[in-house]
Amino acid sequence: MGRKYIFVTGGVVSSVGKGIVTAALGRLLKSRGLSVVLQKLDPYLNVDPGTMSPYQHGEVFVTADGAETDLDLGHYERFLDQDLTGLSSITAGQIYQTVIAKERRGDYLGRTIQAIPHVTNEIKARIRMVGEAAQAQIVVVEVGGTVGDIEGQPFLEAIRQMRNEEERSDTLSVHVTFLPYLSTTGELKTKPTQHSVRELRSLGIQPDVIICRSDLAVGEELREKVSLFCDVPKEAVVPLLTMPTIYDVPLVLEEAGLTNYILHRLDLPTSEGDLADWRRWVEQLRTPRGQVEIALVGKYVELPDAYLSVKEALIHAGVAHGVGVRIRWVHSQLLEEGRLDMLEGVHGVIVPGGFGERGIEGKVVAARYARERGIPYLGLCLGMQVMVIEYARHVLGWRGAHSTEFDPHTPYPVICLMEEQLGIVDKGGTMRLGSYPCSLRPGTQAHHLYGTETIWERHRHRYEFNIQYREALERAGLVASGTSPEGTLVEICEVRDHPFMIGCQFHPEFRSRPGRPHPLFLGLVRAALACQRPAFASPYT
Ligand code: GLN
Repeated sequence: MGRKYIFVTGGVVSSVGKGIVTAALGRLLKSRGLSVVLQKLDPYLNVDPGTMSPYQHGEVFVTADGAETDLDLGHYERFLDQDLTGLSSITAGQIYQTVIAKERRGDYLGRTIQAIPHVTNEIKARIRMVGEAAQAQIVVVEVGGTVGDIEGQPFLEAIRQMRNEEERSDTLSVHVTFLPYLSTTGELKTKPTQHSVRELRSLGIQPDVIICRSDLAVGEELREKVSLFCDVPKEAVVPLLTMPTIYDVPLVLEEAGLTNYILHRLDLPTSEGDLADWRRWVEQLRTPRGQVEIALVGKYVELPDAYLSVKEALIHAGVAHGVGVRIRWVHSQLLEEGRLDMLEGVHGVIVPGGFGERGIEGKVVAARYARERGIPYLGLCLGMQVMVIEYARHVLGWRGAHSTEFDPHTPYPVICLMEEQLGIVDKGGTMRLGSYPCSLRPGTQAHHLYGTETIWERHRHRYEFNIQYREALERAGLVASGTSPEGTLVEICEVRDHPFMIGCQFHPEFRSRPGRPHPLFLGLVRAALACQRPAFASPYT
């Protein structure tokens, strides 16, 4: 059997949910026993989103192999319950960088370098490469942006070519559109969908499936209309109503018969699917037996996508405990201005990762608040660094203790670059990215939560806990509960006399999955529940 390729494009408007549809398709095909890999093609010219502002891009998701990727990769991993690699996140910037590097090396033997075939060949090579590397039966490729964007054209052209090069039954095009609602006439409109399909066809791609997102129920006549005007069979016009949660999407698409239709079109046997676990999990998500409230203290709180994986990890941990987790988005600058009331009544506090000085003192305020009042606290990367700074300042009385990222002349550089710790002058300071091992110290809360001694977690940072201060901090009650195997880097620490105050130098949120919540998030939510109602018995053991 040849490898199959499903291409997902979007039309009408952006943010129509292509990423979730792609992730859901992956889940559905996997549930039929097929091996699947997912890939995102981003048409922008940045080499990766690592240097982009959260305002532009939302969260930067980090894969185990250390690639800084689009946040859709997070959805892919969570829905597939499978680790992906950097090969799953391709940008136009990477493609052009490779093509130009090859040109400089003379690989093209003096030819003129053109969008077709050189750029499109590189794109096709990346699509085939991810399938090959994963040895997947099916590659689902999502093209970022909307059909008609100038940057997206080489990608769509590459897809058009691949559709010709592969067997007819080995590729499938799924177009995701939006049906707007006009209140004056009380109707959902299909015209933008028709236009967007026309645009796609003008690029040589006839969609096989059209998924119509809408905020209202889509009647049979509308499906017939889209079918007629866009030249796809009616059963391939799949309405997708806005759902209460993204995790409902695979179930809706399955219900609509999409998986069977796709398998049939790809000449694959339509075996029985197994979505029972997913269905059960979504049912638990829908029927919480309570709720805890966790404050998330950051500087991009008006932009929840900036903390997407943290948000999802909290949901996963909540489901495991049978409760909903409500996030109270707290702007760190407000805490800096003394607005402690913003934290009033929360059952837990999270300080997530971040870069740059803005709002940093507000995060220190949050850590102090949680420590002094015995409120559960989880510090993620910068959130751990803040926790150490706060402890040094207020428990040890080290005035001015800081990270050299924010105060290069601090008298107590409790957080600094590795190079500074080793006395190296040249601060090459590249980012520590991807999965690294960590050894947990037996008897610590972290060890208890993980239930194992060696863990692997994903990193994205430059600065580290300064080991020169480790002893003094430990004596004062801030314990290094996990280090790199050779013991030189503190990867996780905890406050000894506190119900739950843990900071980790890594990003546990990237590893949390619906049915496999992360131990640290489980621990936080359990502690939050204990904080809220000490007698609560969690179903999670
Ligand atoms: N800015 C900090 C560092 O580089 C923390 C980074 C983060 O939270 N991801 O170490």
